[in-house]
Amino acid sequence: MPEIITDQGLLVAELLSENIQKKNKLTSTKYPNKVAFECGCGEIHTVNDPSLFIIGIALPVKFLFLCPNNYVAFVHVKGFFTQKANCLWSCTAKLYDDVIKGLAEANSKKT
Ligand SMILES: [Zn+2]
Repeated sequence: MPEIITDQGLLVAELLSENIQKKNKLTSTKYPNKVAFECGCGEIHTVNDPSLFIIGIALPVKFLFLCPNNYVAFVHVKGFFTQKANCLWSCTAKLYDDVIKGLAEANSKKT
């Protein structure tokens, strides 16, 4: 199982420690079917699964996915000739939403 984050403060720290950006036109999850990861929801998802929503990306090859079971998973794909996917952490979509809303509020107060 990946590390499941249940604490808002910890999730904020994880998100701020990565430079997570919006996906762009070069963003691709067209990996072979064997490139799969264990998600916080308890299922194994293939990275190329079209039902995964890409929330964001980070360097070098990391994806922030929202899975159909309402879990957010931060996944690192490693390797050039043979890739492997590793879920760095996962949390519920609810916790992620709460944290994003909190961060947005904090940002709007700053300005
Ligand atoms: Zn999942």
